[in-house]
Amino acid sequence: MTGLWFWHPGCKGPAGIRDRGCSLRNRSQKPTGLNNNDTEINTAATHLLGIEGVGVVHVEDDGAGGTVVHVVTTNASARACPSCGVFATSRKERVVTRPRHLSCGGRTAVIRWHKSRWRCAESQCPRTSFTEQTRQIPARMRLTEALRHQAGKAVADGGRTVVQAGRDLGLSWPTVQQAFAEYAAHVLD
Ligand SMILES: [Zn+2]
Repeated sequence: MTGLWFWHPGCKGPAGIRDRGCSLRNRSQKPTGLNNNDTEINTAATHLLGIEGVGVVHVEDDGAGGTVVHVVTTNASARACPSCGVFATSRKERVVTRPRHLSCGGRTAVIRWHKSRWRCAESQCPRTSFTEQTRQIPARMRLTEALRHQAGKAVADGGRTVVQAGRDLGLSWPTVQQAFAEYAAHVLD
């Protein structure tokens, strides 16, 4: 059961992960240059996280019973302007977003996505800049698609009310209501 090192209570942060034998060492995935600092990506942790387009570089305890998972962008297409599709080459700034993700083993998981804002390279494009995004964590989204899906499913299929699902998942009423509406619309498609 190699997969659970990530959430093991003994893993109290990056030093613990490296020093206590919790780490899996198959770090073969190469940084793409999108990363802020070309930090090594832990492919095992990335696989466990299960969000395509990002790689895990660092896991730590949040000090409140939860886990903070630091990720960087690995999918080069995240650098394509969402308006015109042209790949950007000029970085405007580095930013960190904090989408909520599914809890694991009863611990909440917050992602810290270290990513870049790029200047669009196409002079005709109305969009001057954009941040990297992936299908599972669209720009400006405060939840991952997986958590949004779970919230919608809890109401639609799990017999939970919006209030109950919100309490279970630590989400606001409007957020769960919207997730439910999206889930129901998808199911009825
Ligand atoms: Zn553009």
